[in-house]
Amino acid sequence: MAECWECGRIMTRQNVEFTGKFKDEDFTVSTEGYLCECGYKTVQGDQTDGLNIAFADAYRTKYSLFTTSELLGFRKELNLSQQKFADFLGTNVQTIKKWEHGCVQDKSMNELIRLKMKEYYENINSGLSEQAGINKVFLMCPQKFESSNFIVNYPSSDLNQSSLASG
Ligand SMILES: [Zn+2]
Repeated sequence: MAECWECGRIMTRQNVEFTGKFKDEDFTVSTEGYLCECGYKTVQGDQTDGLNIAFADAYRTKYSLFTTSELLGFRKELNLSQQKFADFLGTNVQTIKKWEHGCVQDKSMNELIRLKMKEYYENINSGLSEQAGINKVFLMCPQKFESSNFIVNYPSSDLNQSSLASG
């Protein structure tokens, strides 16, 4: 329960649209907050984090950077703690924590994450293809990796030598 700061009525908890600036650009996001009949809207407690993340993700989506849920998904896929994920990327744990709370990774770091995850998925698929004895495997990848460049072609005579098709 939350009372409106403007008129004192009880506000309802629901998805609310917020418009604001993030890195000097205007974005409109929808996230859980409180809305009053008078039009006043706000976020409280944990919702503040949710609002930060919503703006960061709007920005990331615009610039084709991995979103919070994608970054969390990678860490879950790898089954790594924040510290181990930081080690995996050669950065520090504070950086990982910031990303997961609405700080945007820079482009070069985003590219590093993409390459490291690509390598990871390639290794998995290399193993799968050897097991199955087949010579062509589509990488099990999140959508952002989808591209003809990410199909691995294995020479049928030499399954151990994986090579990336170049398009
Ligand atoms: Zn009100």
